Amino acid sequence: YKHAPPNIRAVWLSTAAYADRVYMVYEDERITYAQAHQRVNAIAAWLWAQGVRPGDRVAIAMRNYPEWMLLYWACVCLGVAAVGMNAWWVTDELEYALKDSAPKVVFCDEERLARILERPAMAADTRLVVTRMDNPPEGVLPFSEVLSRGGDMPEVQVDPDADACIFYTSGTTGFPKGAQLTHRGCVANLMNMGFSGQVQGLATMRANGIDPAAAPAPGVPAGLIVTPLFHVTANNCAAYALTAAGGKMVLMYKWDPGEALKLIEREKITAMSGVPTMAREVITHPDFATTDTSSLLSLGGGGAQLQPDLVAKIDSAVATARPNTGYGMTETCGIITSVAADFFVDKPDSCGPAMPTFEARCVDDDGQTVPPGHVGELWVKGAPVIKGYLNRPDATAESITNGWLHTGDVARIDEDGFIFIVDRKKDMVLRGGENVYCAEVEATCYRHPAVAEVCVFGVPDERLGEEVGAAVLLRPGHSLTADQLRTHCTGLMAKHKAPRYVWFLDESIPRNASGKFLKRALRESLKVEDAG
Ligand code: ATP
Ligand code: MG
Repeated sequence: YKHAPPNIRAVWLSTAAYADRVYMVYEDERITYAQAHQRVNAIAAWLWAQGVRPGDRVAIAMRNYPEWMLLYWACVCLGVAAVGMNAWWVTDELEYALKDSAPKVVFCDEERLARILERPAMAADTRLVVTRMDNPPEGVLPFSEVLSRGGDMPEVQVDPDADACIFYTSGTTGFPKGAQLTHRGCVANLMNMGFSGQVQGLATMRANGIDPAAAPAPGVPAGLIVTPLFHVTANNCAAYALTAAGGKMVLMYKWDPGEALKLIEREKITAMSGVPTMAREVITHPDFATTDTSSLLSLGGGGAQLQPDLVAKIDSAVATARPNTGYGMTETCGIITSVAADFFVDKPDSCGPAMPTFEARCVDDDGQTVPPGHVGELWVKGAPVIKGYLNRPDATAESITNGWLHTGDVARIDEDGFIFIVDRKKDMVLRGGENVYCAEVEATCYRHPAVAEVCVFGVPDERLGEEVGAAVLLRPGHSLTADQLRTHCTGLMAKHKAPRYVWFLDESIPRNASGKFLKRALRESLKVEDAG
């Protein structure tokens, strides 16, 4: 049974049954499942003809085009690892990842092609294929030619423990690492997604007074893909779940809340989940009130803390939709926890219980489990944990002990098994021997109606080691002083946690491709003398 499912090839092949349903929508392009299968087969046949075999790697370096998904499925069906290249990377980073992953073929879009061709050495050993470009430079094949040859899906035995894909971590805390996600891990994540969707569906029905036993067959889900496909949030979570269910994926080239609202109405979107900031931007957008959002059944996001105030705001803003979140990592192929609807409303500062394929515990500095309710680093174990980081045995050994992944996140687990992420270990502010958790201070600041965005971090301090700093973007038409923000915080939390330094920003906090705030870049750009 070494090559029997679970593997992602089986997941994709099973979706041929959805034939005439719409699979992907991108601007005015619509692709059915039947068309998608035809194209995936053609890509796989072409790769095979190029001599690409199981165990090889193929890179995808482009924005959220439908081709991204087609290429991904073609690779995993061949047992070839799809390498997701971050489309935001500049030439140096792209060069690093191409050297690191040594792909046989690189599929890219025009912008990425220009970066690759800047350094001829990058392109030397690999075959280059470019999408959406009619007359590419010499030696570069247009993607249309790959498709034009047609062909059948080669018969391949896919080992469940082989790499399905290499995804680079978001690079929030340092240089991105190539995580090796196995077929077994990705299928386990899909099971967890299904489990969380089921729980969410039942809870929503109950809240809307529908008897689950008498409920009509669920409609076909339609998801808005608002984050990049080269990260697990969009690919392994949203795209996997939608594809396996025969749903529709509506792709956005780049994030824009006004555009998202238009698509929600036009495509009757049932679920949108990006990073939580995106949900906040949607429900506070000037067009929100005049947009028909009645198709939405869930709204939320993960990848960063979804603040408690937002849980209640989502619940009251969209009558049909319930809030949801998930906590996960590239290193776990997707979600570790998930929570939605009433469970989330009851414990809005929790990201939910660990999903069925995980064991979870919080440990102290010696790796010993702490009692329930106590704070420690979260360690998780289960099928979705990656094999390791590509070419980085040092980093792998540091992060995984006997199958237990050290998440780098500090958390507590309550008596019900609900997990509360309190901060990233690297982000905690150590103020005079007292830990201050940024996430808690940020959540408190968000409770002030004038605050649109906030980022909390440690500021070096001679006496205390570190002091609490906060960079704030105000909502248009609102005003707030540093003192007023401190008074707001001290009314809700211990005095030493209130931001000692406050910066008011003129524009949005810089974000990475995942949509997460770039704390390091921000704190380096701010001067203590400019703080209030
Ligand atoms: P890098 O590892 O390169 O520094 P990254 O950790 O942001 O970047 P990802 O794998 O995309 O890369 O993100 C995983 C991390 O995101 C988690 O370890 C956690 O810190 C944070 N995270 C994800 N979901 C949540 C959530 N629901 N609540 C709080 N934090 C979350
Ligand atoms: Mg990380």
